[in-house]
Amino acid sequence: MALDLNTIKKDFPILERLVNGKRLVYLDNAATSQKPKQVIDAISNFYLNNNSNIHRGLHTLSEEASNLYDASRENISNFLGCSRVDEVIFTSGTTESTNLIAFGWGEKNLSEGDEIISFLSEHHSNFVPWQQLAKKKKLKFFVQNIKEDFTFDLDDFYSKINSNTKLIAMSHASNVLGNIFDIKTIIHNIKKINPQTKIFVDGAQAAPHININIKNLDCDFYVISGHKMLGPTGVGILFIKKEIQEDVAPVKFGGGMIKEVYFDDSTFKNSCEKFEGGTPNIAGVIGMNAAVEYLKKFGMEEIRNHELKLLEYFFEKTKNFAGIEIYGTENLNERTGLVSFNLIGIHPHDVASVLSSEGIAVRSGHHCTMPLHRHLQIPGSVRASFYLYNDTKDIDDLFVALLKAQKILA
Ligand code: PMP
Repeated sequence: MALDLNTIKKDFPILERLVNGKRLVYLDNAATSQKPKQVIDAISNFYLNNNSNIHRGLHTLSEEASNLYDASRENISNFLGCSRVDEVIFTSGTTESTNLIAFGWGEKNLSEGDEIISFLSEHHSNFVPWQQLAKKKKLKFFVQNIKEDFTFDLDDFYSKINSNTKLIAMSHASNVLGNIFDIKTIIHNIKKINPQTKIFVDGAQAAPHININIKNLDCDFYVISGHKMLGPTGVGILFIKKEIQEDVAPVKFGGGMIKEVYFDDSTFKNSCEKFEGGTPNIAGVIGMNAAVEYLKKFGMEEIRNHELKLLEYFFEKTKNFAGIEIYGTENLNERTGLVSFNLIGIHPHDVASVLSSEGIAVRSGHHCTMPLHRHLQIPGSVRASFYLYNDTKDIDDLFVALLKAQKILA
């Protein structure tokens, strides 16, 4: 069943506002998505009716808040296809999740000479933590280069894996090129070469747009930001495979993660709570759960199909539009619903400003992927990214405004 855009749009009140006197066309979903009323209501209901700290009090509100928080973990772990509920750890987002693994697992388990491989198109948050860890621990940090057609030479990548390769940090989908990696096959092939190599997957641009089954992917770590998938800011997921949770040291020490504390040492809980020291973002987690419920109502396959249609429409429009340079694979089946591009000879920030004056929100700049933009020898790019509430009219308006930008700036 195709998505009913009229109904969906009504769930996102922000889409009704005017920006610079024009209808808001929100195409910056890869940076953060808008939030439906259902998510906003879940957060405000929590504060209106159940607000309390969790897992500490015996009073009714505390019990209600704990139940809402725990039920959110269970629901989200099912949505992501985890084997166990306690494989889901709540963090503030992808960046914090990545740093927790770099410094909770990497510090403890890696030593001089060990090797990490990452990819040229990674977001800085799946690049810099590993680079910095490598500097600190004298590890070798390799970056897989990209080919002319924006894909990776996987045979070359596999040839770099050896007995010293302790971690591979890769995204499930690129936030600039949009490429969806066939990580199930890649992980299978990596583990055939070295079964001990741990696989870290940045799912920030995949989980909002495609169906994820973490168990099926067989990765060791998977990280997500709630705010890119209709949830609030400040909440994210860190999946750690149960078998390796013991190998990951907590990096946030404090209340909630403790078993016993003595003068000379302390012991920590054995569950996911070991990684959630301090009062968590309770309202955020409840909001993220509401976001997951909202996505489930339509189904990730339908959302993916909708974005694919928008992507096809966008590419169709480019056929009659001269002077646009698009980055990323032409195989739309391997792309999420985002397109990074430049209008030839015009700076991406200038394009974004003209679009903004027309009520159109896109992202411009390096999108936290400086190594990729440096490699492409461009100062930045314009990125239009779609979600379930966007339609072909949004893309029509985008192209009218792009033409205007060309007329004004070229
Ligand atoms: N990885 C990717 C692929 C992203 O697109 C982003 C957000 N732009 C991040 C990581 C970082 O996410 P956050 O800022 O929510 O931690």
